Order: sequence, then C-alpha cells, then structure tokens
Amino acid sequence: MSRKISGPEIERVVQLLARLPGLGPRSARKAALALLKKRNELLLPLSEALATALEKIVECPVCGNLDTISPCSLCQDLRRDRSLIVVVEEIGDLWALERAGVVSGVYHVLGGHLSPLDGIGPDQLNVSGLIERAGTSEVSEVLLALNATVEGQSTAHYLTEQLEPTGVIVSRLAQGVPIGGELDYLDEGTLAAAIKARRRV
Ligand SMILES: [Zn+2]
Repeated sequence: MSRKISGPEIERVVQLLARLPGLGPRSARKAALALLKKRNELLLPLSEALATALEKIVECPVCGNLDTISPCSLCQDLRRDRSLIVVVEEIGDLWALERAGVVSGVYHVLGGHLSPLDGIGPDQLNVSGLIERAGTSEVSEVLLALNATVEGQSTAHYLTEQLEPTGVIVSRLAQGVPIGGELDYLDEGTLAAAIKARRRV
C-alpha cells in the first residue's frame, strides 16, 4: 500500500481531478498542487466559478446545449436559420463549430453515438427529440455533423433512416483532405473518402 503524503482533503481534490478526461493521477497531482499553491489567483476563482456553474447552468430542453438561460442563447438567437438543424454527438462538437463560426442554423446534441456493445441505443441518446423537431414545418434540412468514426457513421446511417418519414433533406459533412493537409501524410481511409467525394472543378 502506498503511503499517504497529504491529508484527506488534498487526496480528495486529487482523486476528483483524476476523474477528468485527459488527466491521469500524475497530472491530477500536478493540477492540485498548482491550485493549492495559487490560492488567490487560481483556487478561489475556480471554486467560485464552479459554484456558479453548479447553480446556474442548465441543459437546454430544445437542443441539449449547456447555458445559464433556458432555452439556450443559441436557440433563442433570432438571427439563426431555424430551417437547418445541425446534429452533433457532444457539446464539445457544438463548441468547435461555433468557434469556427460556420453554422448559420440551430443545433441538436445527441449526447453520444450508438454503441450497442456499451448498451447505448437510441433511447440513451436524444433521438426522439430530434425526430420531433425535424417533423415541424419550419425545418427543411438536418445536417448530421457526426464524427468520422465507425460509431459516428453508423449513428448517421440510423438517423438517416429515422428521419426519412419527416421528409426533410438529410445531409452529412464532406470527408476528405483537410485544409493544409499533405497527401503523403494522410491515411488510406481519408484518401479513399477524398477520391470518392471528388468534385468537378
Ligand atoms: Zn438550445
């Protein structure tokens, strides 16, 4: 058994930090130490920000985004094109698209992808909400902006089938050569997708 170096309070901080994605026990100890050393500059404002987040942030009942207002500010933004719903797996994907400023429509967060082996079926994701939204007369297109993984693509396939009766146009993201990408460095799958999705110039 490893000897305890610090008190239970610090151990607790380390254990909780270690549960965050991307942080193992070693990084969690470093992060905890940084927080404790920078009490006023880091620990206090962070604990206040977390307390505020806990108190005020809610999941948007329409799209699944997180915000302090409900429906979220994206859903309430009247400049957005309500005829286009962009479907993403996670909120992080929504944030990435918003950072790029490329989406004029509104979003729908599924909360993951289909993964039968992990027991994640349509009922574990926000699928019924999407079908319901897509069935309203103001929606004309659903863009499936899902990950280019096996799970993401099989989820896209499933959603395409489910959306068919609604009559909306279902589209997917293009796959191919990334901006600044050199062909020599690309994997075979990306190259094959780029060749398949070639366009006339
Ligand atoms: Zn929303």
